[in-house]
Amino acid sequence: MPANAASRFVYVFGAGRTDGSAEMKNLLGGKGANLAEMCRLGIPVPPGFTINTEVCTVHTERGAEAALALIDAEVRDGMRLIERAMGKRFGDTADPLLVSVRSGARASMPGMMDTILNLGLNDESVPGLARKSGNERFAWDSYRRFIQMYGDVVMGLKPAKKEDHDPFEVIIDGLKDQRGVELDTELDAADLKELVARFKALIRARLGRDFPTDPWQQLRGAVVAVFESWNNERARVYRELNDIPASWGTAVNVQAMVFGNLGNGSATGVAFTRDAGTGEDLFNGEFLVNAQGEDVVAGIRTPQQITLLGSRRWAELARVGEEERRARYPSLEELMPGIYAELLQAETALENHFKDMQDLEFTVQEGRLWLLQTRSGKRTGAAMVRIAMEMLEQGLIDEKAALLRVVPDRLNDLLHPVFDPAALRSVKVIARGLPASPGAASGQIVFFADEAEDWCRRGRDVILVRQETSPEDLRGMSVAKGILTARGGMTSHAAVVARGMGKCCVSGAGAIRVDPKTRTLTIDGRAWNEGDWISVNGATGEVYDGRIETRDAELTGDFAKLMALAERHKRLEVRANADTPHDAHVARRFGATGIGLARTEHMFFEGERIVAMREMILADDEPGRRKALAKLLPIQRADFAGLLREMSGLPVTIRLLDPPLHEFVPHDEAGQRVIAQQMQVPLARIRMRVDELTEFNPMLGHRGCRLGITYPEITEMQARAIIEAALDVRAQGAPVKVEIMVPLVGTVREFNAQAAVIRRTAERIFAERGERIDFLLGTMIETPRAALIADSIGRAAEFFSFGTNDLTQMTMGFSRDDAGKFLPEYLKLGIYERDPFRSIDVKGVGLLIESAVAKGRAVRPGIEIGVCGEHGGDPASVAFFHRVGLDYVSCSPFRVPIARLAAAQAAIGG
Ligand code: PEP
Ligand code: MG
Repeated sequence: MPANAASRFVYVFGAGRTDGSAEMKNLLGGKGANLAEMCRLGIPVPPGFTINTEVCTVHTERGAEAALALIDAEVRDGMRLIERAMGKRFGDTADPLLVSVRSGARASMPGMMDTILNLGLNDESVPGLARKSGNERFAWDSYRRFIQMYGDVVMGLKPAKKEDHDPFEVIIDGLKDQRGVELDTELDAADLKELVARFKALIRARLGRDFPTDPWQQLRGAVVAVFESWNNERARVYRELNDIPASWGTAVNVQAMVFGNLGNGSATGVAFTRDAGTGEDLFNGEFLVNAQGEDVVAGIRTPQQITLLGSRRWAELARVGEEERRARYPSLEELMPGIYAELLQAETALENHFKDMQDLEFTVQEGRLWLLQTRSGKRTGAAMVRIAMEMLEQGLIDEKAALLRVVPDRLNDLLHPVFDPAALRSVKVIARGLPASPGAASGQIVFFADEAEDWCRRGRDVILVRQETSPEDLRGMSVAKGILTARGGMTSHAAVVARGMGKCCVSGAGAIRVDPKTRTLTIDGRAWNEGDWISVNGATGEVYDGRIETRDAELTGDFAKLMALAERHKRLEVRANADTPHDAHVARRFGATGIGLARTEHMFFEGERIVAMREMILADDEPGRRKALAKLLPIQRADFAGLLREMSGLPVTIRLLDPPLHEFVPHDEAGQRVIAQQMQVPLARIRMRVDELTEFNPMLGHRGCRLGITYPEITEMQARAIIEAALDVRAQGAPVKVEIMVPLVGTVREFNAQAAVIRRTAERIFAERGERIDFLLGTMIETPRAALIADSIGRAAEFFSFGTNDLTQMTMGFSRDDAGKFLPEYLKLGIYERDPFRSIDVKGVGLLIESAVAKGRAVRPGIEIGVCGEHGGDPASVAFFHRVGLDYVSCSPFRVPIARLAAAQAAIGG
């Protein structure tokens, strides 16, 4: 028996008595609680009642009859109160009270029952409604809509096969053909009456029972249908995906109908208390005279603006002159000044009360205003920030509430260029991939990175289209406007690099075929050639045909204010993953307080460097390697000096070479021929060496510290470049704080071996130069074994940085580059709730992290611990990292503001 059994199940609102309130969302659902609250504020709401969520539980456990028996008397009482408030009777034939029936759970839940309107109508009361409204067509149209909705939603009359058309619509189309008309609106009262007869016959024929004409029976059927919809397939799947427990149940709202289509004194509309697009504190919205709610959104008639200011702004955009505007599209403010004043009062009261931007629905019935709904309005990222900051300034909300109002990921909208929303309406999506790196870009297709550079030098905008990218494509990627790949997941090379660059990228667009030979991109049989225009949206993963105008992001004052606020509340530091002074510069602008990961390998791909790098890789022996490394030393030193200068005293974590060497050498013959010429050795030797480098599982192969252990001279060179750069930058007067990081450690001995090389090299340099500099020597924790023995490693290493990309792939046992083949299906089936490469797998990988933190701190209290995998920029993961007590997260520069806000939200318990 529900806890509330002794008290009541039905809560009345707006009928001279209001039982509920906004606090009662658990019992009344979001819609019911807000309707009750509106009544408490004295806002005119059509009277009604809410059947609480406990009745839904009774329905699930004991069936429909038990649930109905429980509420029967209370529902009749509730209806009597509505009748009194509206001055009509439910089931009356002369002037019937009609009601709507809606579901309403605690959380808004698409997938549940649609609304039933006009309930209470029957053959006897239709003429009454016609007489009373003076509009016969309206009465019969209301009735046929009701039967159609009820037949479908409550009685379950669906198409026989899912590919068939809606049987009611088939009947409507048949009648329209018979009458020779095209639009529903061209059917007259007699036609609609005919439809009612045909609909009823259809129900009898298909279901073997009659459409219920008794209003009470109609109501009972609708209430049970709402409860049943709580357990339908769509609702169950939605609940599973959104962690909504089945035990919550849904409430049912029964409310008096009001009509906006009873002539020119009636209207219906939607309004926002602030601008949902820009956040401007300006009441706005649209309405239509003599119309129903659905007509406003259907876009058949041009809606009018609510305020005079809005109307004038609209007219300017629509190029409508003032005279025509006033005559044909007057604002509500001009047309119904009394109603407008009342609406304005209501919107102010509601916003002040709920302390958030509200989205309202209203109806004017014959000169009387009714509000049908209020809820927190959806808004763009820019509006989210502006509204939160302005409400804070206006004293409506406090700092914590302001921080929690902004969804961190939505800051993306502000940081990257975006497509002009108006332009998007007229273009076609041709493919979809993963939203790998946000931003919007239009450009001409090129298939090769070097050609991207060529084209850009000639002033063209290009989109680099590749099967997948490799480190060799880096320069082409950096100059392209956007990147599109057919393969690769969220942590694929293209995705990681693009995010680091703040470059728009769509990866893993499975439907596209890339043929670099013929220089074509094919989607569903249609081909695009080199030079053709396409557009990509890295925030949604959408690919469009042709060119779309973009707008640059503006970092407004509100954004800066939000960041300052986040700074005051967060505990976690936020560093950036940055490999170049440019990245470091961007990161600092976004508020990074250090570099958590500089991937040194990225520096090897530019220009002449790759030649020396290849020479080193392809050398036969140590002297050969040392010769090539000597060429790389000054280059790396200059790179590191650039990073250190840019970060001026903030910590800079530089990681030793990590990827398998085969990534640096060309696998095609043409490329190998070029190298053979450059190195003046036979092609066969190059080919042989490249073959030797090939591995079955390169990500589990000769990479990470294994490279430095087998070729210590590489580590020696890198350590020298780092220490010398630090000394040089300090000598120039800038403070430096450098941290050297060993990748992919699995045993203490691995770390010790590398540490010995680094320390020895440092001492040698200190002796040579007669000066010393402090540095930290630490390790990545990115193999499960390292996490498990973090205490032993912690005795040797001075800091930890979790490499959650590798730690995830090795703990889960699937490759970060190949997971795209099955992960989408896994997510669909709910085997994983989220992509573990995107949001940390708290239960598994998280456990390893948590215990490694404890082990590390146990042996080295105060050890600096951070994370530098992609998860460092994911808000849910940031909350986890805050909870387990990391010191910092490090992420792509463009995610730094997102991580800062997420860190603040985690700190204030959001
Ligand atoms: C990681 O594995 O999480 C990491 C940061 O290193 P990379 O992505 O370069 O392997
Ligand atoms: Mg790694």
